[in-house]
Amino acid sequence: MSTQPLTPPSPTIDAPRLARLVEISRVLNSATNVDELLHYIIKQAASLTDSEAASILLLDPHTRELHFRAASNSPHNTLTDIPIPLDNSIAGSILQQNRPMLIADVTQDPRWNPDVSQAINFQTKSILGVPMHDADRQAMGVLEALNKQHGRFTRQDAETLTILADIAGVAIARAQLAEALQRAYRELNELDQIKTDFIAVASHELRTPLSVIMGYVSFLREEADPALADQLDTVMDAAVHLRNLIQDMLNLRYVDAGESTLDLQPWDLGQVVRELTAVPDETAVSRRQTITTHLPAAPTPVLIDHDVMHTAFTNLLDNAIKFTPAGGQIDLRLEQRGQEAWFSVCDTGIGIPADKLEWIFKRFCQVEPALRRRYEGLGLGLSIAKDLVELHNGRIWAESTLEQGSTFTVALPLYSEV
Ligand code: ADP
Repeated sequence: MSTQPLTPPSPTIDAPRLARLVEISRVLNSATNVDELLHYIIKQAASLTDSEAASILLLDPHTRELHFRAASNSPHNTLTDIPIPLDNSIAGSILQQNRPMLIADVTQDPRWNPDVSQAINFQTKSILGVPMHDADRQAMGVLEALNKQHGRFTRQDAETLTILADIAGVAIARAQLAEALQRAYRELNELDQIKTDFIAVASHELRTPLSVIMGYVSFLREEADPALADQLDTVMDAAVHLRNLIQDMLNLRYVDAGESTLDLQPWDLGQVVRELTAVPDETAVSRRQTITTHLPAAPTPVLIDHDVMHTAFTNLLDNAIKFTPAGGQIDLRLEQRGQEAWFSVCDTGIGIPADKLEWIFKRFCQVEPALRRRYEGLGLGLSIAKDLVELHNGRIWAESTLEQGSTFTVALPLYSEV
């Protein structure tokens, strides 16, 4: 057999090759597309070792077979379908023995598989192959240079290819990881969309029967025996609660429709704030909470979709009422700060732990675990408010001291007619 074991690399690489390896390493470190990376590696492998072609075989972790992932003599990847077993193949031996190998004449090597050459109509004569490893030094594939163009493969070729394979292995593993992350991210987005579509359909379907229930309850409340009034009031309260939950779900439609559907008009933001307390909130009244509004003397001009901003502000006020105990104080404050209007809702409620102040703005995120909740809600209100404020190029954030209260602030750009 013509296999010639090569001794471990010693520093025989000349300065120009080293300089090229450094440059290649720089390119590999910044690449993220696996296919582009593989083709760049084989091009460099062939050129650095003065070979006719080069190829990369990667190990399939499930079947434990090698597959060609890139070959400079097979631009259309016809080779990928031919699995190369680890036993009785040249590439398999390189991987299993975990060392470089030089096959000066493949026709003399019983492990040589002529199918591959035939498949791409390429006459392989000699092979210099080295194992590739990932960042954890796990064998992940083989890098081969084929047919030295002038003379025979040298020790310098073997060392150069070994270094290239080392840098390439880590870069490939990293790019594969980046691609897997992107795939997972796309799948998550798809799942998120399915969830959002489901919520939209479910809330729409729930609304119709609920209106029928509410209609009949108020009819019965007026017509039926007064002795039933208490029970009917309880039914109505439950129905109103259900309607609020459905409204939260329906509000998602604003977010998903995006900026394009906003009906932007100049408004005095003070007016939107005043409307929040125009009708006393029943829960706040029954809990004897005081809601105080502080508005600037002059109008606060902003360019907003009135209904959308009203929804966002209502979500903040509803939360303040919900998470503040009886007798608590809620302050609605509007002021101008530089080129912005700042609207804040400040309560004396239960507060929010510091590590949850950003997290609560994500969909379905609630400080209390879902199954041990004392407070009603779906965990949608703040995420909707955030999306809606951001559609208006604004910002929203929360500050809080546990057991003492929370302040939610919305900053919107002031509008000036030019
Ligand atoms: P929901 O109120 O339906 O649970 P939100 O998205 O409006 O959903 O709020 C998410 C979570 O943020 C709430 O469950 C609560 O844990 C916390 N939170 C929001 N507003 C307040 C507030 N004013 N005081 C204390 N916690 C709050």
